[in-house]
Amino acid sequence: MPHDLPKAYDPTAIEDRWAEYWVRENLFAQPAPEPTLASEASARPAGDAFTVLLPPPNVTGQLHMGHMFEQAEIDIMVRWRRMTGRRALWVPGTDHAGIATQLMVERQLATEGTSRQKLGREAFEARVWEWKRHYGGAILDQMKRLGASVDWQREYFTMDDHLSVAVREAFVRLYEQGLIYRGAYIVNWCPRCQTAISDLEVVYDEHKGHLWEIRYPVLTDEGQDSGEFLTVSTTRPETMLGDVAVAIHPQDERYLHLHGKKLRLPLMGREIPIILDEWVSLDFGTGAVKVTPAHDPNDFALGERHHLPSINVMDDTGHINENGGAYAGLDRYVARKRVVADVEAQGLLGAIKDHTNNVGHCDRCKTVVEPRLSTQWFIKIQPLAEKAIAAVKQGHIRITPEQYEKTYLNWMENIHDWCISRQLWWGHRIPAWHCSTCHKTTVARVDPTACSHCGSAQITQETDVLDTWFSSGLLPVSVFGWPNFGGKIPSAPGPSHLGTGDGRENRADFDAFYPTSLLITGFDILFFWVARMIMFGCWFSRDVPMPDGSPRSLADSVPFREVYIHALVRDANREKMSKTKGNVVDPIEIVKQYGTDAVRFTLASMASPGTDIAFNIARTEGYRAFANKIWNAARFLFMNVDHAAKVGIKVDLASIAKDLQLDSDEGTLADRWITSWLALTAKNIDSALNQYRFDDAASVVYQFFWGDFCDWYLEIAKLQLDYSETANHEATRRSLQVLVGVFEAALRLLSPFMPFLTEELWHAVYGGDLPSKSIALVRYPSSDIARPNLVAHVNMGLLQELIVEVRALRKEIGVEEKAVTPIEVCIFSGAQPVLKENRAIIERMARVSEVRFVEGITAGLSKHSTTNFDVAVVYERTIDVPAERDRLTKDIAKYEKGLAAAERQLGNEGFLAKAPAHIVEGLKKQESETRLLLEKAHAALEALPKD
Ligand SMILES: [Zn+2]
Ligand SMILES: [Zn+2]
Repeated sequence: MPHDLPKAYDPTAIEDRWAEYWVRENLFAQPAPEPTLASEASARPAGDAFTVLLPPPNVTGQLHMGHMFEQAEIDIMVRWRRMTGRRALWVPGTDHAGIATQLMVERQLATEGTSRQKLGREAFEARVWEWKRHYGGAILDQMKRLGASVDWQREYFTMDDHLSVAVREAFVRLYEQGLIYRGAYIVNWCPRCQTAISDLEVVYDEHKGHLWEIRYPVLTDEGQDSGEFLTVSTTRPETMLGDVAVAIHPQDERYLHLHGKKLRLPLMGREIPIILDEWVSLDFGTGAVKVTPAHDPNDFALGERHHLPSINVMDDTGHINENGGAYAGLDRYVARKRVVADVEAQGLLGAIKDHTNNVGHCDRCKTVVEPRLSTQWFIKIQPLAEKAIAAVKQGHIRITPEQYEKTYLNWMENIHDWCISRQLWWGHRIPAWHCSTCHKTTVARVDPTACSHCGSAQITQETDVLDTWFSSGLLPVSVFGWPNFGGKIPSAPGPSHLGTGDGRENRADFDAFYPTSLLITGFDILFFWVARMIMFGCWFSRDVPMPDGSPRSLADSVPFREVYIHALVRDANREKMSKTKGNVVDPIEIVKQYGTDAVRFTLASMASPGTDIAFNIARTEGYRAFANKIWNAARFLFMNVDHAAKVGIKVDLASIAKDLQLDSDEGTLADRWITSWLALTAKNIDSALNQYRFDDAASVVYQFFWGDFCDWYLEIAKLQLDYSETANHEATRRSLQVLVGVFEAALRLLSPFMPFLTEELWHAVYGGDLPSKSIALVRYPSSDIARPNLVAHVNMGLLQELIVEVRALRKEIGVEEKAVTPIEVCIFSGAQPVLKENRAIIERMARVSEVRFVEGITAGLSKHSTTNFDVAVVYERTIDVPAERDRLTKDIAKYEKGLAAAERQLGNEGFLAKAPAHIVEGLKKQESETRLLLEKAHAALEALPKD
């Protein structure tokens, strides 16, 4: 059957088709292997599986360049490992993203003139589910289009039933272990989102504000104004409404006479004590600090030490509440102005100083965060952190690049208790019930009907939900069935498909795929997600025995064995992509233009550990051309296969498919060389990918395909493939077999990087007689595909060196493109037979009419010398001297003009300051090139015979 590959490579014509095929055929599904009996499971070779979790994008998300980069890296690793014979599993899913999703649906409700409060909790939750059904997970569809080789049958959503059971179990277990507590502490409160947020979700900006000095009247022992004042300073004057004391340092000599005195709090009129505490700094401000325990973490600690009350003066929306007296109902910033004005009116305002401080903003909505006393749920994190630190320190988890290990350990060693409650409606509702009879709390795996302490039925469920990262932190254990293996754990109410059978089918997944092998993710979620997975993974999986029934060690409790932190994708000028700057590159648009393969290859070719990527469309154009080159190589190859078939020469495809073994000792020099070179290429890719050097791996496969295979081997093959009646058909068949065999193996090497193009061409190689459903499922070539043939490398190297030198000489002495000339070669080594045998190659590739082997190059010929030979091109140019002089004079004028313009621009400071780096670089390069051309033209003009 002849091949009918379209003339031009058109990614849009092939990519959609393959993307659909991979999903439809479930090619990357990875069920747990049977059988699952403990005795048999333990017989499985360790390390057989290669498991990766996709960092779950928000269900509201759209694919951006960062996702595409991350997923390209993961997909390359997964496809590569799958082809090397590992049981590769990549698990996809989306995160319910509490705040983000709730915010978005709330905005939608606002446009309909309603709100979540008007709908009520249940109706609101139903509305979010409805939104999710219609629009959620668009990003996964984009992943499908980009060909991510994930197991779509395992797609999860963090609010799925079986994952929610895990969340509940984890909460209850930590509570039972005394590691979850509830209490009133200062939290970061977002008045817009109306929820507490964790320290990690607060971003700090430098803010130019003021420091107001306010004078508090000192009272006599009888409670009258003494006429003296104690001056405090504050950046948030409105919080004074909640002041309960003023603190001074016990040794502060300015204030020794005030020990034991009281003050009158301006505006509110309350009497408040002066307290002594060594925490107060002697040299900051006036040395007197107002104490507002409900609105500042340091003041809160002071309040605890001195047994002071806490007066919360603000409500959930950042308005002053009833504790703020006359200011009740005012927004916090309106109240600030009013407080300052009123204090001033009473003559109590001191200096107002400019002051720069760091103000925390909500990462999600950018509202200024209000430190505020609030009752929240916390995890006592120390015991979990200790295990997570040990897991990394003992080398059970390797983090690349190495510097992130230090960052991780530093954070873990200074970790604070984790505030896990959020005042949202969208998320996992905390499984705790408060009793209005005995005021105790019941935490339970199954919704209780009565208080577990007093039996009262007057219980109501906690309204808070859990931090989104609580559920995503559990993913490595929960996606593989924890905790419900044996049906021993009662399932939560709702549709239950859990707790049935003996649980064997669930444990099989865990046994096969936990710990996962690798996590590829960004630095920005190292603490949010990576650290939490390590803590939860080590904590919860330790109770799950190993497949052979033995206890699980820390080494096998980790959620993953390797973490690779990838870099960021920036724009071509190394600027961070941002919507406000307008320099965002939409991956879907670029893919439409150049094809997924070219974009993936661009990303891979620039990805090395620790280096940000400056995404440059010119590179993508270059890799589009690379894909085109391969396409054309395939067309040439198919044309030959079809031609050969007509004269009865058949390529043995079955042996290519089966053996993946080539002979580097047979055939012509070029055959032996390309075969050996293929094996070396496979070896280099293997070592590059093992070190996450995606850039090196891409460069190696690129050089092989474009340089060695297309530019050299294919050109030589044209000489070897002779179908004429007089030709040696056996030699032709052998060469064609090598050509197809090497091409097929090279497609496999390239497949993880360019999955679509290689799938298309690989199917075409086999016609209707496929050895497998996909190139992605066949073996990856390893270095043992052929024996390294050093002699072939040396000899071919000599041949290439000669051809390259002749080509350079022809350029130098101005041989016309089409002219064919003799050359003289004087050889120093014993390589003459090699050149003689392969003179046809030299003639074809260097446009040589005759190779003359000489003892010495004829005097007068310009020659090139290498350690192996001297070579000269025998060529006499006949020139029309006046015409040549005319041409060179014109060239010189043109170059001088160009040079002057470039110099002018490069001398312009203003231009240099504003122009992007690549423009300046380009200009400098252009300038030096023009200068060189100018010198050459002058020299050539000098050299012309005078008339
Ligand atoms: Zn917010
Ligand atoms: Zn009770």
